[in-house]
Amino acid sequence: MRCENHIMNQILNAYKPMWSLKHAISLMGWDFETYMPKKGTEERGVADSQLHLLYKDLLLNKDFVRLVESSKTLKSLTDQEKGIVRVLDREITKQSKIPKELIEAESMERIRGNMAWRVAREKSDFLMNAPHLEKMIEIKKQIAEKTGYEKHPYEALLDLYEEDLTVDELDKVFGALTPRLQKILKKLVDSGSPFLNESKLVKSKYEIKTVDELNHDILNLMEYDVNRFRVDVSTHPFTETMGLNDVRITTRYEGTDFKKSISSTVHEAGHALYDLQCDQSLSVTPLQGGSSLALHESQSRFWENIVGRSMPFIQLIGPLIRKKVSFASVATDDELYRYFNNVKADYIRVDADEVTYNLHIALRYEIEKKIFGDDLSVWEIPEFWNDRMEQILGVRPTTDSEGVLQDTHWSSGLFGYFPTYTLGNLVSAIIDSKMRKDLEDYEENIRMGNFKPIREWLRSKIHRHGSVYSPKVLLDKSLNEGYNPNYFITYIETKYLASAV
Ligand SMILES: [Zn+2]
Repeated sequence: MRCENHIMNQILNAYKPMWSLKHAISLMGWDFETYMPKKGTEERGVADSQLHLLYKDLLLNKDFVRLVESSKTLKSLTDQEKGIVRVLDREITKQSKIPKELIEAESMERIRGNMAWRVAREKSDFLMNAPHLEKMIEIKKQIAEKTGYEKHPYEALLDLYEEDLTVDELDKVFGALTPRLQKILKKLVDSGSPFLNESKLVKSKYEIKTVDELNHDILNLMEYDVNRFRVDVSTHPFTETMGLNDVRITTRYEGTDFKKSISSTVHEAGHALYDLQCDQSLSVTPLQGGSSLALHESQSRFWENIVGRSMPFIQLIGPLIRKKVSFASVATDDELYRYFNNVKADYIRVDADEVTYNLHIALRYEIEKKIFGDDLSVWEIPEFWNDRMEQILGVRPTTDSEGVLQDTHWSSGLFGYFPTYTLGNLVSAIIDSKMRKDLEDYEENIRMGNFKPIREWLRSKIHRHGSVYSPKVLLDKSLNEGYNPNYFITYIETKYLASAV
């Protein structure tokens, strides 16, 4: 990117070494999760934290900060230039407000807490994890005080992942979403809906090689550019973006329930497409990649759920599944559709279906808000978790690993992160609704494997902008909406209650 403005060019030039450090940190992160020998962990930890410190030094270098400060007074900047100023100013403000000791304390506690969490989860004993969690929460409370907030300390943490997200907004979202999803779930149960029947495909063992081929066939149908994109394997699937022309995803193979592998692949491919379709002029700038976590998640969930679990998509990949997966060779499209869309109120979030998933997030949101509002102590969490899960989902965990210990987020210090999953779901349904109005033959194109109109729609409305606009501005500008839950509720009602399947 080349700017007319002299100061902006100076900023972009000075940013290049910072971008390069991020590039290297991303590549090391990808390597850590995929191919690094186990014993390399310790040394990689040193390299990773040192590169982060170097990055912070460059970002907070007086000359650089002065340049960014002076750019704030510039008149007649383009939207891209304003975006650069906004993103860098936010980062400088945050990094300069949090003292080095707190950052170090957090990263130490992240490693210790994570190790304690692994053992505690295995032994299903929350008490083993509690002292670490208490310490992490204390650190996070201090960070919230240092960075500042308007109404609720929790907002300082929400803002780390979703720019300007407030407790009032989330209260409104979950206040509307939770009771309506509970009602839909109850209707499904009361009517004995076929969506509740577990398919025999769940337990059948598959050969990894065949499902791997299937994943690649699906990615080929979606026309991923192999010169800018690759797929590897890891326990927890993720997407890592080195740059706009090197985006990598991973998927998982557990040996049973093959839909999990396909759904993970399509989910991560959705994340990857966001970055692959970002305007190339934003390469090697602070604007590369998506506008926020929620918007990124809206892309992955759009492909995984709205496209990937739709009947037209099942009709597209059904013949491939029947050909490759021997025990599914006689499964009809209807059976496959119900297999991919099975609904079950259960304990574990990562295995949850479209109807119940956000109820899991509602529970975590409620707990996080209470923790940072000083309404709930660490020791009270497990019982509160179990009580509320029983009220919200109708199931009560019998062990801590089925309940409070299931996610690594809190031990890793990721407070304020969970709500972005739900916001992503809401936005994916808004996109679906708008796209249906804009694109002719929307479903027919999915059935035929012609994804070009969908990709192009996403590119022009969302992807190409990278993080030029804040998430709320982009949502308003491109979709004329906010985090409105009504589209998602309508989508779920139409799919699960009105469908004859
Ligand atoms: Zn995701």
